[in-house]
Amino acid sequence: MKPIENPDVILIGSGIMSSNLGAMLKRLDPTLTIQLFEVTDGLAQESSDGWNNAGTGHAGICELSYTPKREADGSVNVSKVIEIFEQFEHSKQFWSYAVGSGMVERPSEFINPLKHISFVHGQEQVDFLKARYEGMAAHPFFSSMEYTTDRDKIARWAPLLLEGRGDGPIAATKMDGGTDVNFGAISRKLLKWLSKQEGCAVASGHRVVGLTKKAGRWEVLVRDLTTNEERTHSAKFVFVGAGGGSLGLLQKSGIPEAKGLGGFPIGGQWLICDNPDIVAKHEAKVYGQALDAAPTMAVPHLDTRMLDGKKTLLFGPFAAWTTKFLHKKGSYTDLPFSIRPDNLTTLINIGISNLELVRYLIQQGLQSMADRMKVLHVFYPAAEAKDWRLIDAGIRVQAIKKTDGQAGIVHYGTEVITDAERSISALLGASPGASVSVNIILEVIKKCFPHLLSTAEGHARMKEMIPTYDEDIKLPANAARFQEVSQKANALLGLG
Ligand SMILES: Cc1cc2nc3c(=O)[nH]c(=O)nc-3n(C[C@H](O)[C@H](O)[C@H](O)COP(=O)(O)OP(=O)(O)OC[C@H]3O[C@@H](n4cnc5c(N)ncnc54)[C@H](O)[C@@H]3O)c2cc1C
Repeated sequence: MKPIENPDVILIGSGIMSSNLGAMLKRLDPTLTIQLFEVTDGLAQESSDGWNNAGTGHAGICELSYTPKREADGSVNVSKVIEIFEQFEHSKQFWSYAVGSGMVERPSEFINPLKHISFVHGQEQVDFLKARYEGMAAHPFFSSMEYTTDRDKIARWAPLLLEGRGDGPIAATKMDGGTDVNFGAISRKLLKWLSKQEGCAVASGHRVVGLTKKAGRWEVLVRDLTTNEERTHSAKFVFVGAGGGSLGLLQKSGIPEAKGLGGFPIGGQWLICDNPDIVAKHEAKVYGQALDAAPTMAVPHLDTRMLDGKKTLLFGPFAAWTTKFLHKKGSYTDLPFSIRPDNLTTLINIGISNLELVRYLIQQGLQSMADRMKVLHVFYPAAEAKDWRLIDAGIRVQAIKKTDGQAGIVHYGTEVITDAERSISALLGASPGASVSVNIILEVIKKCFPHLLSTAEGHARMKEMIPTYDEDIKLPANAARFQEVSQKANALLGLG
């Protein structure tokens, strides 16, 4: 397909971020012209691909890292999980709109209902989980959550957790309203729709190699990987949704906001279960406590996934040391080549302040199968190595910012970098990126395309796509509105 000549918008990368943005912008303003470039042959093959990420529709239900500790009075602060839940509701609303309006079909190919379970052992953690449950169940978002220390009940929720387990206190919470999401599949569906719209095109096998601003427009240098030819395309607005490739492109753009930024890659690996009898027994996402120095986003979980139309069972991701920024099209020189005079001090600070993390990542990568099975046994004590095999997961490039000074902070979560003229926006970072991607894109639109929302027509279009985008459904007083909108979205998505 021929690229669109000098489009209004160029999207770099075909993951969940660019696909949400492209689809939402085109729906907001059907006259916009949009061109997307993707370096791999297929679409959404990196972090958004189902095999590369954990596919948890992060709604704050089971991830203990969003409620890390108890307050002095013994309660658990649940404000973060309420915020994440609301953001995931926005994702469900937009994707259900895409189904309802005929943009995409067959939602079960990208989203499925699945129980979300938190599971802990040891008295201290049991007490923590109870306090967390009490804080959460009091809010309308989590009112259907159940808590138990009853071993038989936990065995009914997730039998593998109890197989071969010795004595000692255990507890679990369960909510049936969780989801498994294949972010790659929804990305590909949205982009299929976008590529059929007037004035829009999607080009895979094209690597963006340069970004320069001239006379108020971005000149984007693109290499066609089939012919090796390079061509310049110009656009008013560029979105850098290149995942691990975003940092290098931001550095090329030369915008002041990119000065001092660095990236800290964390690789991932899974154990995948090859025994169909075991796969059949488990039907849940089970999250537990972080182990040792594990970064919060690398807390392993026992995870039912629907991948390529088949139910699978994964355990992980295990974190691993890597210097690559992209899983498919990355290179081991990515990290060294990202070091510039303006981010060198920040990176050194990170190295010094996070020696324990670096040591943990290296040690994780050197683990034997027996070591990994020990971690799996925390969740599934009767697991046997013969039923499991190690496979690679995606890479997360965590953002590092100069503005943190000497702090040496690795930013888990997502960072959006936008220039002062609002002509370029880039996304750095990872989890809970994909689940809350619609909310992230909403913020990009509010900041860079405010004129599209300020008219009565634009506002009405956005309300159709995300009915509660300008409402606060977190407020317990708005519980009825939340129920109404959520039930409609769930019905369209086939979530029951
Ligand atoms: C192991 C793991 C588990 C995760 N688990 C979860 C989870 O359970 N829930 C959740 O919400 N999030 C999770 N995440 C995070 C989530 O996957 C990411 O936040 C999300 O997929 C990022 O989407 P993206 O579109 O920004 O990037 P990507 O999906 O990585 O897309 C970027 C695209 O840009 C392309 N690209 C790069 N450079 C160039 C270039 N120069 N020119 C053209 N194209 C380029 C890449 O090939 C790629 O296709 C996980 C991530 C990992 C790695």
